[in-house]
Amino acid sequence: MSAIILDGKKLAAKLEEETLGRVMQLKEKGITPGLAFILVGEDPASVVYVRSKNKACERCGIRSVTCHLPEDVTQEELEETLHKLADDPEVHGMLLQLPIPAHLDEARAIACIPPHKDVDGFHHVNAGTLVNGAPGIRACTPLGIMDLVKLSGVETRGKHAVVIGRSAIVGKPAALLLLEADCTVTICHSKTKDLSFYTRQADILVSAVGKAGLITGDMVKPGAVVIDAGIARVDGKVVGDVDRASTEPVAGWLSPVPGGCGPMTIAELMVNTVSIAEADYAE
Ligand code: NAD
Repeated sequence: MSAIILDGKKLAAKLEEETLGRVMQLKEKGITPGLAFILVGEDPASVVYVRSKNKACERCGIRSVTCHLPEDVTQEELEETLHKLADDPEVHGMLLQLPIPAHLDEARAIACIPPHKDVDGFHHVNAGTLVNGAPGIRACTPLGIMDLVKLSGVETRGKHAVVIGRSAIVGKPAALLLLEADCTVTICHSKTKDLSFYTRQADILVSAVGKAGLITGDMVKPGAVVIDAGIARVDGKVVGDVDRASTEPVAGWLSPVPGGCGPMTIAELMVNTVSIAEADYAE
């Protein structure tokens, strides 16, 4: 047996095509969805991420603006920029590229983004709606994870989902979305003892850690859906948490790195932006 590869690149292209269709409809009504990126400093990975998100905006007909602030920007200056964008009616979504330099207060900065423009779903109001099961903007990587699970065609109801990682931007929201999809959910993290005891029980295994080779085939339940959200670099190559060679013969479905959660995260960002612009128009 060899796992079916969950092609995130192909699914992301389909999502972007659908998004372009929705953008065209909005443009007929005189509305162009707008997404603002706020980038602080020159962190090479952040610069690359913002560039690829800008390119996705171009593909989807979304107007994007990038506010590139210097590394030594003050908290006040950053907040002033965020408030300006918050007041700009042409900006539907705002994304503060993380991480920001250590002298800045990330939580305070995110709180300056109005919840209805928080396209990343990181604002505590949106995080709260996820916990309460109320409508709100959901974080992009967890949304991408859920769409990859859906692509497998596996019914989520009653399944045991094990999520490795408990961050506020990937692990926790992914676990809550799986709970919302009627899974029984276990969250594992750096202090979990005997990780493989849990992973071997998973019908759906999501790994969001960033440690190459953390998950090997012997830790995976035969036939499981394995979603690899991790990103690590080995010898200059981008890899995930899952050791593909040993896992592919065991898992039923596997999302690759690269080409799985990465492109899906960007596509979900486009979807979130357009959904905000549509909601804005409907008001
Ligand atoms: P993070 O560092 O905030 O969280 C990592 C989590 O892994 C923590 O909760 C920690 O408890 C857990 N962990 C660490 N070592 C562990 C171990 N040995 N066993 C079990 N759990 C362990 O990172 P994050 O922001 O949540 O991102 C997680 C991964 O997902 C990273 O590799 C990141 O690059 C990647 N990521 C990918 C995308 C994408 O677009 N594909 C988006 C966001 C994050």
